[in-house]
Amino acid sequence: MERDVILREVGMRDGLQMVKSIFPTDAKKQWIDRAVAAGMPEIEVCSFVPPHVVPQFQDHEEVVRHAQTHPDLLVSALVPNAKGAERGFMLGVDKLNFVVSASETHNQKNVKCTTEQSLERFDQIMEVRASKPEYAKTEVCSGVSTALGCTMEGEIDPKRVMWLIEELLKRGATEIGIADTVGYANPAQVKTMFTNAIAAFGADVIVAHFHDTRGLGLANALAAYEAGCRKFDASLAGLGGCPFAPAATGNVVMDDLVFMFEAMGVKTGIDLDALLSVREILESNLPDEPLHGMVARASVPKGFVPASMAAAAE
Ligand code: ZN
Repeated sequence: MERDVILREVGMRDGLQMVKSIFPTDAKKQWIDRAVAAGMPEIEVCSFVPPHVVPQFQDHEEVVRHAQTHPDLLVSALVPNAKGAERGFMLGVDKLNFVVSASETHNQKNVKCTTEQSLERFDQIMEVRASKPEYAKTEVCSGVSTALGCTMEGEIDPKRVMWLIEELLKRGATEIGIADTVGYANPAQVKTMFTNAIAAFGADVIVAHFHDTRGLGLANALAAYEAGCRKFDASLAGLGGCPFAPAATGNVVMDDLVFMFEAMGVKTGIDLDALLSVREILESNLPDEPLHGMVARASVPKGFVPASMAAAAE
């Protein structure tokens, strides 16, 4: 499958962690199966946190093992610390995503330690990884959250974000998500941040992780694309929310992001119709949850030919 951009489904983790009701394990499996059938190359399927902290992910082992039945799917999971990472290494997850906040205050609130201590936790994860040869097949990556603004600190110094990326890469991370966790970013700011990060570290290691909290998610994704970014996180139907803004929307809507790229001639390798139909799993299992997406509401324009389809027909 030819792809100009890599889209990563994070709704099963970033979205579901905000959802109060427990999403059934079978529905998670269906979501994975149908997302993969639609062409999704990578899915963050859970977070390795203790069940009493986030009950939503208590079925992580079953979900991971199911995801691993798809040989072409890159299976990733979030890890808060070395203990969670060890679970991921033992299960042979393809990629583990650690998270550290650019905002010191947000880091304290989110993971109860300083950013320096978070970097030490990252080192501990790498030590666990080095302890057994079979763990080496799991890539360790990180997100830098609140990289473009923080509800507690406001503006974040871009130099601090660059420093954190550099530190994480030095310590063995292979990919870094620059995350607008609270949806503060604007396209001009994104363009500068991503241009600088890609110039310094290369497009291969940089991922755009945007939330649509203030309606600029797609605009920010486009700005990152124009700055050379080729990897994007998003969630089906924009599932999720923001712990710091109760009425807010979640991640960038995956279906709308696929539409934007395909309409622009940028191949995602994802079948938009097939992806849109996966929304019914969320509709039937989360009846009280607001689902987002303009394409799902309005349908695609007359005569619309997705770039991936046009390429396949050639
Ligand atoms: Zn997020």
